[in-house]
Amino acid sequence: MAVVSAVGGSLLCKKGFFVVGHDLQIASSVFVVAALVYLPYQLFNVKCPKCGMKTRTEKDLTQSRWLANCNDCNIAWDLEMGANRK
Ligand SMILES: [Zn+2]
Repeated sequence: MAVVSAVGGSLLCKKGFFVVGHDLQIASSVFVVAALVYLPYQLFNVKCPKCGMKTRTEKDLTQSRWLANCNDCNIAWDLEMGANRK
């Protein structure tokens, strides 16, 4: 009986590991999709810290950085996101 429960326990463990691995796979897929959607959303939906209005996002003159511009406040700030970021 002890042997049976030991075997049963190890099978449960294996099944548990499989489930955990599967969940991690789903979680990482969800994370990747969320990052792909969220990063561009974040990039183009920057609120002005001064007036709270939506800003215009554009590349700087060197085309390597993203800047957010607020027309009302006439300020621009670096979003600290390189254009080469994937
Ligand atoms: Zn503003």
